[in-house]
Amino acid sequence: MAATVISGKEISKVFRERLKQSIDLIKSEKVDDPNAIFPGLAVIQVGADPASSIYVNNKKKSCEEVGIVSFSYTLEDTATEAELIELIETLNKDPRVHGILCQLPLPKHMDEFSVINAIDPKKDVDGFHPVNKGLLSIGRDCLVSCTPLGCLMMLKEMNIDISGKNCVIIGRSNIVGKPLAALMLAENATVTIAHSKTKDLKALCRTADILIAAIGRSGFVTEDFVKPGAVVIDVGINRDPDNKVRGDVKYDEVFEVAGAITPVPGGVGPMTIAMLLQNTYKSYLSLTQS
Ligand code: NAD
Repeated sequence: MAATVISGKEISKVFRERLKQSIDLIKSEKVDDPNAIFPGLAVIQVGADPASSIYVNNKKKSCEEVGIVSFSYTLEDTATEAELIELIETLNKDPRVHGILCQLPLPKHMDEFSVINAIDPKKDVDGFHPVNKGLLSIGRDCLVSCTPLGCLMMLKEMNIDISGKNCVIIGRSNIVGKPLAALMLAENATVTIAHSKTKDLKALCRTADILIAAIGRSGFVTEDFVKPGAVVIDVGINRDPDNKVRGDVKYDEVFEVAGAITPVPGGVGPMTIAMLLQNTYKSYLSLTQS
């Protein structure tokens, strides 16, 4: 039995197209208003790490495609944490900016937690601020981290039943594993979070109707982790020695066992960017309509 491929590339196109239509409508309604404000995302990069520059440029390009205004700020990697926080505080007050994204990782002399804390939670489109994390954990409306939200939206777009299903998530990071567990729990899945200290991981994973890998180890999940027919979501992005990008799941062999599977590339990655755009639009609506 071969799996259904869950194409994040195609699903994210649907999200981006819907978003573009909504933003086009706002633009057409405000065509005669010289003071009109449209959704805006500020992207801050500290230093010139080439991988970060690629991510930042992709985000800017994706904003343009749906009609979100992007503002970019680059600080030298010698900038102080106080300078970065000062910039964030300026953006917090800027009515043209509805989302603030600070590209991680930050240089070692900066404290990530303090920097994220400086972002207005209403503009925290990455969903990393403790206020948004807290709201998510108690099931209240908030800005949810883009990668976990993208995973959930893929399942929903594919009409995959979540309620009552056993969901095993490998990985307990603050940006993927934990928020994804909260989302799946809110959808009434029975959720288990596995991690590097979990005993008998393969047997645990074989209990999963929905198995999500967010580990950061290329090809870690082999066919013997997977119950026949299970849905497998691969969050991992790993650069192999042959310079190819691969996921945490050994795709070719798991494809033969799973009921549905996300590829890498073309799976969770494009959904993450689409959710960033969607979060910016959501912030725009809440900041301009309140
Ligand atoms: P992380 O390093 O913060 O967390 C990895 C988790 O994997 C940890 O909780 C750890 O306990 C667990 N783990 C490590 N080794 C394990 C093992 N042998 N057995 C069981 N669990 C183990 O990573 P992260 O930031 O959550 O990212 C995970 C992966 O997802 C990475 O490949 C990252 O590049 C990718 N990622 C992709 C996107 C996207 O847009 N697709 C976004 C964020 C992260």
